[in-house]
Amino acid sequence: MSPAIPDDQRWRCAGCGNLTRFDVTRTQRTTEFWHFDLAGEHRVEETDVHGESVDQVTCRWCGRSDAIELVPRHQPAP
Ligand SMILES: [Zn+2]
Repeated sequence: MSPAIPDDQRWRCAGCGNLTRFDVTRTQRTTEFWHFDLAGEHRVEETDVHGESVDQVTCRWCGRSDAIELVPRHQPAP
């Protein structure tokens, strides 16, 4: 499984034909700016993503993770 989807392609489940719903397990390496308030609660106000890898893609419909393939993305009608 490629970590990135090329711009002109998309995922498709070869098991059931699903094009739109996937569970994606991914690992991101990030640096976040955590802003704490006086009570000690924090919000993440900035996130820099240094790297990302997709570990597993699972079809939401049939549950298969071994049948996900890249197919050409349909071009919008002119
Ligand atoms: Zn499927």
